Amino acid sequence: MTDTFDTIIIGSGVIGLSAAHHLSKRGLKVLVLEKNFPGSGSTTRCIGGIRQQFSTEASIKLMQESMKQFQQMEEEFGFSVEFYQGGYLFLAYSQVNLDSFKTVARLQKSLGLDIRILSIQECLEIVPCLNPENLLGGVYSPDDGQAYPFKVIAGYIQEIRKTQSVIRSFVEVTEMIVEGERIMGVILKGGEKIFGDTVINAAGPWAGEVSQMAGVELPIFPEKHEALITDRQERLFETMIVDYRPDGCYFQQLINGQIIGCYTPIPNQPGTDTGSSKEFLIEMSKRTIRLIPELNRAKVLRHWGGSYSMTPDGSPIVDKTDIAGYYVAAGMSGHGFMFSPAIGKYISDIIIDNQYPFDWDEFKLKRNFSQSELMK
Ligand SMILES: Cc1cc2nc3c(=O)[nH]c(=O)nc-3n(C[C@H](O)[C@H](O)[C@H](O)COP(=O)(O)OP(=O)(O)OC[C@H]3O[C@@H](n4cnc5c(N)ncnc54)[C@H](O)[C@@H]3O)c2cc1C
Repeated sequence: MTDTFDTIIIGSGVIGLSAAHHLSKRGLKVLVLEKNFPGSGSTTRCIGGIRQQFSTEASIKLMQESMKQFQQMEEEFGFSVEFYQGGYLFLAYSQVNLDSFKTVARLQKSLGLDIRILSIQECLEIVPCLNPENLLGGVYSPDDGQAYPFKVIAGYIQEIRKTQSVIRSFVEVTEMIVEGERIMGVILKGGEKIFGDTVINAAGPWAGEVSQMAGVELPIFPEKHEALITDRQERLFETMIVDYRPDGCYFQQLINGQIIGCYTPIPNQPGTDTGSSKEFLIEMSKRTIRLIPELNRAKVLRHWGGSYSMTPDGSPIVDKTDIAGYYVAAGMSGHGFMFSPAIGKYISDIIIDNQYPFDWDEFKLKRNFSQSELMK
């Protein structure tokens, strides 16, 4: 391949594609390299939740930008990405939990979010079929919601194809060419060399091992998560329901009526295995029915595994590195789908304008990783 590109992106998940879209919109010629096919990593295994309810100013601002872009996608792409603002309801089963929601709500409201602390009765008004056993209350944002990951990436691909940028599938980057302290390009499996002075690592759960090719260590570790989807149900509720108990779960009803959801396994399961387990199928079904007993008639159509790419503090790394021209947009810690529109825009701004959009300390590579996002 003799063509030259302004930026090479490793990985065509939703992060790499959003970055390619935003860089292309700003006139750059981008090459996206994908070892499998677009979305085949975590992106099409995700359940499509989108929320602004985070516990830090930087994450909330990031999500406010993402939300703005999700709202505009139908017009931009010319088709619906099934974006729907049905809300997000976090349930509280302990006073500690409820108090921490109240504390975080003060910050969220100060940044302009519509956040409502709910009594048990008010939770039942939002989700009438909710089992209130042991419930103390909740926190609800009506503006949060969902979109369909397959359609979002289809939109990005469509827009990228209208530009001079290129997406190549089934090509694996096996080496990065680094001379002195500067990136010079990448080498594909089979030996093809592609030269370029700007490379973004958007390799999702594989970002850590990809970064080692440039000699840059990243604190990013893949963790297995599973999800399931049921057949279509009559409309039962509009909001994502999040139960943070150690044996809790989170799920939502898609606009076509299907219920889609998952839980965070304890202990965490390291790795990129995408298998689906009988244990998850049984547990997730029990946990869902505990919250919405009416779902005992739902039939599970499919269940699958995928990866979260975790950082020690649960916030992504979106930054330049000590290798000039080598950037990272990874470690999404379970929020990469909802973060992707903003991260695509902001990594473009960082590369082109050499400027962070706002106080970016939370997303820098060199940061104190001891703080933790409360609403993980
Ligand atoms: C069960 C589950 C539920 C989830 N639910 C949500 C949710 O509700 N909301 C939300 O926001 N997020 C959710 N997520 C997280 C979300 O899916 C991820 O954060 C997001 O998809 C990350 O996108 P990415 O582009 O960084 O990674 P990926 O989609 O994994 O893309 C990385 C790509 O890089 C490619 N690649 C890797 N190495 C190389 C190489 N050497 N050469 C070329 N290509 C390479 C891979 O093949 C892959 O396609 C969920 C995840 C899971 C597993």
